[in-house]
Amino acid sequence: MKIAIYPGSFDPITLGHLNLIKRASRVFDKLIICVMVNHEKSPLFSVEERMDQIRRVTAKFDNVEVDCSDEFVANFARKLGACAIIRGLRALSDFEKECQMAVFNKKINPDIDTFFLAAEEKYMYLSSSAVRELAMFGGDLTDYAPRELIDEINAKYAQKNSGRR
Ligand code: ADP
Repeated sequence: MKIAIYPGSFDPITLGHLNLIKRASRVFDKLIICVMVNHEKSPLFSVEERMDQIRRVTAKFDNVEVDCSDEFVANFARKLGACAIIRGLRALSDFEKECQMAVFNKKINPDIDTFFLAAEEKYMYLSSSAVRELAMFGGDLTDYAPRELIDEINAKYAQKNSGRR
C-alpha cells in the first residue's frame, strides 16, 4: 500500500490545501494529513481544533486520515510507513524553503521522497496567513476557506476582538 503524508500547519486549512488533498488522494492509496506542532509559533487554532476542522472538510475522501506530530516529518513518516511526503509549490518563493526541507527529510529517511504538486492557478497566492488577515478585517472568505469553516474562523476573530476591548 502506497502511503503519503501531507504535513503542514493548516492554521486554518484553506481551499488551496484542500485542492492538494483531492489531487494527492487520487494518486496514493492512503493520504495522512499531519498537523505539525510548532512550539515557536502561536497558532490561531489549537492542534485539536485544526485536526477536527480537517476531519470535517475531508470526510468525503475515504482514503484520507488526520494525525499530528511534533517530530521531524521524515521520522514521523517512517513510523506511519509512508513512502512520500506531499508538499505544494505556489510562487517561486516556496521553492527554496521546500527544496531545503526535502533534502533534510531525505537525509534523515532515504526511503522517503518529497512530491511537489504545483498550486492551481486560482490558489497560487492563497495561504492560511492571507485567510487569517482577511478574516481579521472582516473580509469575505468564500473563495478562500472551506464553506463549513467560515463561521468559526470569523467567530474566532470576533472572540479575540472582544477580549481586547
Ligand atoms: P507550513 O507551515 O508547513 O508551510 P502550511 O499549512 O502553510 O504549512 O502549508 C502546508 C503545505 O501546503 C506547504 O507545502 C505549502 O506550500 C502548501 N500550500 C499551502 N497553501 C497552498 C495553496 N494555496 N496551493 C498549493 N499548496 C499550498
